[in-house]
Amino acid sequence: MANKRDYYEVLGVQKGASEAELKKAYRKMAVKYHPDQNPGDKEAEEKFKEVNEAYEVLSNPEKRAQYDQFGHAAFEQGGMGGGGFYGGGFEGFDMGDLGDIFGSMFGFGGGGSARRNGPRRGRDINVSIQLTFEEAIFGCTKEISVPVLDECEICHGTGAKPGTHAESCSKCNGTGQERFVQQSMFGAVTSVRTCSACHGTGKIIKEPCTTCRGTGRVKKTKKYEVKIPQGIDNGQTIRLGGKGELGENGGGYGDLLVSVYVQPNRVFVRKGNDIYCDVPITFVQAALGGEITIKTIDGEQKYTIKPGTQPDTVVTLRGVGVPNLRNPKIRGNQIVTLKVKIPTSMTERQKDLLRQFYGDAPAGAANTEASAPEEEKKSFGEKVRDFFEKDK
Ligand SMILES: [Zn+2]
Ligand SMILES: [Zn+2]
Repeated sequence: MANKRDYYEVLGVQKGASEAELKKAYRKMAVKYHPDQNPGDKEAEEKFKEVNEAYEVLSNPEKRAQYDQFGHAAFEQGGMGGGGFYGGGFEGFDMGDLGDIFGSMFGFGGGGSARRNGPRRGRDINVSIQLTFEEAIFGCTKEISVPVLDECEICHGTGAKPGTHAESCSKCNGTGQERFVQQSMFGAVTSVRTCSACHGTGKIIKEPCTTCRGTGRVKKTKKYEVKIPQGIDNGQTIRLGGKGELGENGGGYGDLLVSVYVQPNRVFVRKGNDIYCDVPITFVQAALGGEITIKTIDGEQKYTIKPGTQPDTVVTLRGVGVPNLRNPKIRGNQIVTLKVKIPTSMTERQKDLLRQFYGDAPAGAANTEASAPEEEKKSFGEKVRDFFEKDK
């Protein structure tokens, strides 16, 4: 610091130069000595640093006044906030003004659009749980364990060793970002990047907390009781606000997203809020009608089959389907397909009775149904009834 040149001399301006004159001079010098314009030129690099340093001081009215009064001594021996600002030479620069100049000069946004690496909300955590068919329909409570990054209890999330605290980053003056100028075909362009000293946090932790290594966050397994609402369906997700990962730099917690996987049921198939199932009936029940028992999610229900019921007749049982997720009082239906079962073994007497019922019907009569379906369908029940009445 002994042979520092006068800042006004560095910029080539008079001592009483106006702000505009300073800017103009600085711009000229910065472009001239920019490292991109002078690759590998150590002298230019030094000049560039010198120019930046001079402008940094002279463009700040307060610093300029101090400099005018005390010269370089104003900023030595820790005179300016512990000397951190100049300790690193060029490293210590706030390039803010440079950005403003080039931003306005070339119509670029001076870094205003750059993302600042400040407080950042924690990540959302995705977990999936398995439910039985019934659990999804009627709701339940599930306990889940989730590994998340959470606040370090030792340093309370500050990342600093207990008894110490984080200091404002001197490289970026706590802004978390550094600006730099690059030459492009459009001229000098200011870019902004995350401060390499503090990684965008704006803070420097001198003595990191040993438990979290200065990150302020530790991996924990958290247990949550998740209330599963009735009517939830396969593939749906429950969002638990603020139960996710802790953010960085004071950002809040993310959410916990619990995706639901519903195990298939052997009897029921769910489509929306309706439940589908097949119910087997005998061909005699189909023909004569009668009372059967149908299993629903509420228990068994009696149902009376009409005589002459055709195979795959669909029956709707109202209001015994899945409760609506938003209004559980509203429920879907159960859609039942009656499956007529043909016996695979019969006694001789049963066979005889059937032969009598069909009378002289030719072999393979069933195949004629396609050509005369109406006649066959209409008369089937009647034929069966006739057959049994005849038998009495
Ligand atoms: Zn800690
Ligand atoms: Zn920084």
